Amino acid sequence: MKIAVVREAPAGETRAALMPDSVRALVTSGVTVHVESGTGDASGGSDADYVAAGAQIERDKTELLDSVDVLLCVSRPSDHDLARLHAGAVVIGFLRPLDEPDAMVQLIERNLTAFAMELIPRSTRAQSMDALSSMATIVGYKSVLLAAERLPRMFPLLMTAAGTIAPARVLVLGAGVAGLQAIATARRLGAVVEGYDVRAAAGEHVRSLGAKFLQVDLGGIQTEDAGGYAVELSDEALNRGRDLITKHARTTDAIITSAQVPGKRAPLLVTEEAVAGMKPGSVIVDLAGSTGGNCAASRPGETVVRNGVVIMSPLNLAATVPVHASQLYSRNITAFLKLLMEDTGELKIDLTDDVVGPTCVVHQGEVVNGRVAAALETAAR
Ligand code: NAD
Repeated sequence: MKIAVVREAPAGETRAALMPDSVRALVTSGVTVHVESGTGDASGGSDADYVAAGAQIERDKTELLDSVDVLLCVSRPSDHDLARLHAGAVVIGFLRPLDEPDAMVQLIERNLTAFAMELIPRSTRAQSMDALSSMATIVGYKSVLLAAERLPRMFPLLMTAAGTIAPARVLVLGAGVAGLQAIATARRLGAVVEGYDVRAAAGEHVRSLGAKFLQVDLGGIQTEDAGGYAVELSDEALNRGRDLITKHARTTDAIITSAQVPGKRAPLLVTEEAVAGMKPGSVIVDLAGSTGGNCAASRPGETVVRNGVVIMSPLNLAATVPVHASQLYSRNITAFLKLLMEDTGELKIDLTDDVVGPTCVVHQGEVVNGRVAAALETAAR
């Protein structure tokens, strides 16, 4: 089996899908790994490192794509690159099948088999493959550093000869993996932190990190699905959260927002009114920009200033920490790839496997994921 990794196409994408350590593990399993020259330049893997790990460096990407069996990527390859792959070839990466279902058409028409890393079940068995959690950990950490860098005050409580400096107050909305990491990072920097989420289970996690959990009475409605993900709330339920957030925003120095509902627009939690009530110099870092944003004033990918409040909505924060992001992603994708391999290194796709099946979007040109099929149908209307 021939596995390939090429340089990521999107501007600003610094991560690499496979790092030399993972290449070493794969090569000993009997596969060949081909890496486009320069793939790891930004993520700490030189061509020489890949060669030392047992990979072959390729200068001609087109030739490499023509003959590859499995293409590993971080973001979805361009249509141009996908068009080079032979029918039956396998693509694995963050393919955004629910957010951009239209883009799956190329995979279908080319008779490819595609696995979306964002669909890996959040099960104990699949923990080592959970790339969403890996990236969210990095994003949560980095969001706090961005806020701290932009804030015109310090985070910790300081008692100096010139007097006492009060700690910064940080509010984190959405206490999933990214939110919890943001809370932990802000606490390490010495801030007083509050967290908010609609899932009751999140309260315990927030408190265990030394932050205060803000609770809203939603009248006992269902806020999460069987998989533990938040569900889309009614406007009335959302308004209760918005009112509480507006009140707390007035005394908060930095708000980090990370609320997401899989396959849906991100919930709007910070209204224009809440922004208007914040102190000039306060900072909002909206981590949900790629799905519409949690803050009414956010502009995905941009930084805007409203009445002295700085609102940032970075779109690919994980790529600003390329070494560790690539290291974690490479281990995640390698662990998943091993589920698709016989001991002899041959490809084996068992769609009845409880990790392989749910992760598969398209199998030899057929859509095999119900949620993706529904998203495609809606997009076609
Ligand atoms: P996510 O990125 O889908 O969403 C981030 C957070 O936003 C979630 O905590 C969600 O509850 C919250 N949210 C959604 N709508 C909201 C609203 N209106 N107001 C406030 N908050 C809102 O979440 P994630 O980090 O991917 O985690 C999703 C779930 O998966 C969680 O239950 C998490 O504990 C679980 N998980 C399990 C494992 C595992 O068992 N292996 C690993 C990672 C995550």
